[in-house]
Amino acid sequence: MKNCNQCGKCCIKYGDGDLSETQEEIDLWEIFNPDIFDYVKNNEIWFDPKSGVRLKRCPFLDIAPKIKPSEKDKYTCSIYLDRPEDCRHYPSLIAEMVRDECEMIEVSDLKNPKKAQEKLDILMLDSRPSSYP
Ligand code: SF4
Ligand code: SF4
Repeated sequence: MKNCNQCGKCCIKYGDGDLSETQEEIDLWEIFNPDIFDYVKNNEIWFDPKSGVRLKRCPFLDIAPKIKPSEKDKYTCSIYLDRPEDCRHYPSLIAEMVRDECEMIEVSDLKNPKKAQEKLDILMLDSRPSSYP
């Protein structure tokens, strides 16, 4: 199990309407992060604040600056500390990572998914919300 290399596949895949949000998050954004709340419509994320149309890509997904132009794109989240809980949970299961072609997965993880899950759970300890079982 490798660390996340910021390939962006998860954000690109789920940021277009497949992310869930809680009412509590929405309420907190409304009070403390109006720039995020602008992209909420009818308690769902993410919508263009001007047109009201659902966005095909998360508006907070940025490409990190490169040292050399030839480097592979690396993605960052511009609301990392205030991102939805759904984002904080990812990745949670080995099967999900395999399906999403998450680049944290190594060949040895495929051979021993149970051990890989244990490694993932340790890696994710700081990211997952305290409500995680
Ligand atoms: S809010 Fe951040 S972590 Fe979540 S999909 Fe968007 S860029 Fe990715
Ligand atoms: S798909 Fe995996 S390696 Fe790529 S950004 Fe998401 S968590 Fe990181």
